[in-house]
Amino acid sequence: MPIERIVVRFSSMGDVVLTGAVCTAFGAGTGFLTLPRYADLAARLIGVEQVFVPGDALPDVPIVDLQNSVRSRWLLRGRSVVRVERQDLRRRLRVAFKTAPGDRVVERYARAAGVGAAPAPWLPTVARGDVLLLAPGAAHATKRWPYWEALARAWPGPVRALGGPGDEAIVERIGGVCEAGFAKTLDAMNGAFAMVAGDTGLLHLAAAVGLPVVGLFGPTTSTDGFWCHGGVALELPLACRPCSRFGGARCPMGDHLCLQGIEVERVVAALGGLR
Ligand code: SF4
Repeated sequence: MPIERIVVRFSSMGDVVLTGAVCTAFGAGTGFLTLPRYADLAARLIGVEQVFVPGDALPDVPIVDLQNSVRSRWLLRGRSVVRVERQDLRRRLRVAFKTAPGDRVVERYARAAGVGAAPAPWLPTVARGDVLLLAPGAAHATKRWPYWEALARAWPGPVRALGGPGDEAIVERIGGVCEAGFAKTLDAMNGAFAMVAGDTGLLHLAAAVGLPVVGLFGPTTSTDGFWCHGGVALELPLACRPCSRFGGARCPMGDHLCLQGIEVERVVAALGGLR
C-alpha cells in the first residue's frame, strides 16, 4: 500500500512507543521518520509500513510532526505539516510550583494527528506465560527504585530482568537480558505475564506489546503525561512531587522517599491483582 502520511518522532524510546497510539489509529499506509537507532522499533509499530531516517527522500504526503523541535521544523520545511503542541513551559511550571498537570502525551499526539488515540497493543503482542519481568534500570538516579533484588526474592515465581546500557550488574544479579536491542528485548518479553518498571521506556514498551504493567513513580507522577496504561501506577502523595520533568541525579530533599517509601509488599500486592 502506498504511504499516505508520515508520522515524525525522533526520540526517545518511550516517546516513539507512545506514537503507537496514533500509528495504530491511522493503520496501513503510515510512514515513520525517526533516528536510525529507533528505526527497528518504529518499523514494528502497527500501521507503519515504511521507516525513513533524516536524509532520506520523503514522499509528498501529509506529515504529522510529533517532535516539533528546531530540527524537525528544519528538516520538514516547505512540507504540509501538522505539529504536536509542546507543553514545555507548562511542565516546568508544574515542577516549580506544583501547578496542574498538562495533557497526556498520547492525547496531544492524537489531537495533532486528528485521530482518536488507539489503546495498546501498538506492537505485535508477545506470548503470555508466568514470568514476571523487572526493569530495574533508569537513566536518572532518582527514578531508580531501591528494592529490585528484594522483589525478585519475594516473588513466588519465575523472574527475568530486562535492562539497557549501565544496568548490567543488577540485571546479572537478578538474571535476565541486557543491552540486547529491540528485537532481543521484545523476544525476552515472551512468556511474561506482567512487568514492573519505573517511569522508563521499557514500561511503555511492555504496555505496547499488551502486557499488564506496574509503574513505580517517584520524581515524576503518573499524571504528568506518559502514563496511559491499563495497569497499576504506584506512587506516594508527597508535596515534593514532581521535582523534575525527567528525573535527576540526586534527591533535592535528600531522602528519596518517593521511591524508598514504596515497599516490596505493595508491589507484590499490585501484581497479585493483575493475575
Ligand atoms: S523524594 Fe521528592 S524531592 Fe526527592 S526525588 Fe522524590 S520527588 Fe524528588
